[in-house]
Amino acid sequence: MSQPITASLIREVIGEAYEAVKNDKGGANANYIPFLANIPSDLFGIAVCLPSGEVIETGDTEYVFGIESVSKVLTAILVLQQYGADEVLSKIGADATGLPFNSIMAILLEKDHPSTPLVNAGAISACSMVKPVGDADKKWTAITDMLTALCGSPLKLLDELYKSETATNFNNKSIAWLLKNYGRIYDDPDMSLDLYTRQCSMGVTARQLAICGATIAGGGLNPVTRTQVFDPSLAPKITSLIATVGFYEHTGDWLYTSGIPAKTGVGGGIMGTMPGKFGIAAFAPPLDDAGNSVKSQKAIQYITNKLGVNIFGSCSCK
Ligand code: GLN
Repeated sequence: MSQPITASLIREVIGEAYEAVKNDKGGANANYIPFLANIPSDLFGIAVCLPSGEVIETGDTEYVFGIESVSKVLTAILVLQQYGADEVLSKIGADATGLPFNSIMAILLEKDHPSTPLVNAGAISACSMVKPVGDADKKWTAITDMLTALCGSPLKLLDELYKSETATNFNNKSIAWLLKNYGRIYDDPDMSLDLYTRQCSMGVTARQLAICGATIAGGGLNPVTRTQVFDPSLAPKITSLIATVGFYEHTGDWLYTSGIPAKTGVGGGIMGTMPGKFGIAAFAPPLDDAGNSVKSQKAIQYITNKLGVNIFGSCSCK
């Protein structure tokens, strides 16, 4: 049996995880986006948000970093809320690709749909679906309102990151137009890509991501603001998407070793959600070969294993 998850237990365990991982030198900052290459590599923070709304944190949890692909979860929630689970499944899909996040091969192999809103193709497609279709400004407001509601406070655009990413996102341009070719972009492709690039360039803290993870874990109820952000019936859908592809081609290894559905971003953030129990986030810029933060992975793995919590059942094994 795992112990009850109290704030004092979390405080103890995240402190241990921080100490165990802080000197790890593995990985390297994302270098294909120039802005990210220059972020100090030794930043590191961990935050946990409990159903009471209490946030327990250690390290650089107030540092504002690029949300990057973690934002895919938040926009997926928006389109799930706007269209319902069935239409998102038929327009985008809910499958793992087993391939890198920006894979063009994945689109060619599965040209009937972009697989999942949590890889670049599906996320660009999700941005194209955001209502009101055809109005970039109102779509952007819908996206940022959802980000604010899920995280409990507004996120700010990191303008330098947005410019850096816009100047170098040639691969994503190909994805947007390839999807157009397959009828899987539901608005202007360039506008949809720009919305995607902008949402990836939003600055977020580990604290905010932990609150977002806890909102998903709580069936759409933000435990800090006490607002019902999305329909509770959508929580298992979004959690299943996160579990299926949150770490791209390393998702199976991640679930096997950590037991928690989580989503990564090349900014170094990881957001995890343990249904009914807590949200967790960690941030550290150096990434592994699949674009997942090395220290954040180790910290979250340490914490879930130490707490003995696992979405697949109780796990006291080491
Ligand atoms: N904006 C990044 C990209 O599209 C996000 C990738 C990620 O975080 N995995 O390449």
